[in-house]
Amino acid sequence: MTQQTIRKVVIAGGGTAGWTAAAALARQLGPLLDITLVESEDIGTVGVGESTIPTARTFNALLGIDEAEFMRATQATFKLGIAFENWGEIGDRYIHSFGQVGKSTWMGGFHHFWMQAKAQGFGGDLGDYCLELKAAEGERFFTGENGPLNYAYHLDAGLYGQFLRRMAEADGVKRVEGKIASVRQSGTDGSVEALVMDSGQAVEGDLFIDCTGFRGLLIEQTLKAGYEDWDHWLPTNSALAVQTRSTEPAKPYTRAIAHRAGWRWKIPLQHRVGNGLVYCNEHMSDDEALALLQGEIEGETLIPPRLIRYRTGRRRKTWEKNVVALGLSSGFVEPLESTSIHLIMVGVTRLMQLFPFGGSARPRSTATTALPTTSWRRSATSSSCTIRPPNGATARSGTACARCRSPTAWPNASNCSERAPRSIRRRANCSRSTHGCRCCWASASSPRHSTRWAA
Ligand SMILES: Cc1cc2nc3c(=O)[nH]c(=O)nc-3n(C[C@H](O)[C@H](O)[C@H](O)COP(=O)(O)OP(=O)(O)OC[C@H]3O[C@@H](n4cnc5c(N)ncnc54)[C@H](O)[C@@H]3O)c2cc1C
Repeated sequence: MTQQTIRKVVIAGGGTAGWTAAAALARQLGPLLDITLVESEDIGTVGVGESTIPTARTFNALLGIDEAEFMRATQATFKLGIAFENWGEIGDRYIHSFGQVGKSTWMGGFHHFWMQAKAQGFGGDLGDYCLELKAAEGERFFTGENGPLNYAYHLDAGLYGQFLRRMAEADGVKRVEGKIASVRQSGTDGSVEALVMDSGQAVEGDLFIDCTGFRGLLIEQTLKAGYEDWDHWLPTNSALAVQTRSTEPAKPYTRAIAHRAGWRWKIPLQHRVGNGLVYCNEHMSDDEALALLQGEIEGETLIPPRLIRYRTGRRRKTWEKNVVALGLSSGFVEPLESTSIHLIMVGVTRLMQLFPFGGSARPRSTATTALPTTSWRRSATSSSCTIRPPNGATARSGTACARCRSPTAWPNASNCSERAPRSIRRRANCSRSTHGCRCCWASASSPRHSTRWAA
């Protein structure tokens, strides 16, 4: 049997990523590891990230979390999908629900039967065959032992961190408070040996998990892993976040409302509402964005609005030497499809599957990062399919670039001559170009997309 050489795990950062990693590693591999988490209350966390997708339930189940306890502790509400408002035209609403549409048979996909029915003059809307969609539209929810609905949660990011911290500490994770002043590297191969705190204390480890947020203190500032910029697909770079008092019962979906240079989120929790405005500061100034957000939110403001700048993209290497990056230090797909916490969960699960107990803490093969890479690309694709020209510009001009999805006013549209007829863009409901669909690269005649287009 191989001797265990990787035992001391040090997690740098205690945001959602840090405490998710700590709780999962301690719960699943606890007796085999000695885990320490370092965080600084003075630096704090990004403080957003409150909408999830259904994989959060699978992850909670893996950790043996009781749903009722989790919901109480995080002031969570149920989420059946995302309502995209004003994206096609002012007044449009499309709910991307978590449900399956219809029931396929061994003979063929459901959409064939539905299209046949439509051709014969009946069949209703495609959405009539999706329980989650109908429940979301009716603002209804049901759960139970055999509950039929597929759902996720809206949760308070701060309370979620505290909840995970309590779990992790109960499972033996040690916490060190303070600022990391420097990183000590091995003189031979450059791998990380210790985090040196402001106090002078050195926190030594065999494997380090970088959860320091956008800073990427270990993966980038120390190991220079590099960053792949995705702003040509996801052209936003700023967000303003603010919390308000609830003015109505919580709706079972996130609202993503388009505006002329981005979009606005509204996430209902039990005790308050999370609001934010996502935009590109090349197309809207911070002052304009603030005025827009303040003009549109409802209810008393509970904290002053916070400005967050980001760069969409992904770290070129998320495992470099003995450092694994999770959360914002590994990259950021903008929050439209609420996939960041999901990507943290995928990343930590992958790390547990491939944990290098017996050998070097360096990445063992390219397979190590293959799954997260696929998940990252999928997340980016689904967001970029929705991020289309600001609705005002599209609706008024009637034309937009089918390749880069930019209206003529956007800089990257100037060097692209493709234009898609509006009818095609509206039918596709995604950024399908005249050559194929960016969701799946299928051609216009692909049956895989026929339901979506026909709808
Ligand atoms: C505008 C916006 C909206 C978002 N919305 C969603 C959403 O709806 N759904 C979703 O899934 N995700 C969302 N996200 C992403 C989500 O917020 C993050 O994935 C999640 O919060 C994880 O952040 P993190 O733990 O990686 O980083 P952070 O929360 O920034 O934590 C970093 C940690 O590192 C510590 N640290 C940093 N430097 C040092 C140092 N020198 N010494 C000691 N400690 C240090 C900090 O103290 C902190 O504990 C959103 C992100 C943004 C920007």
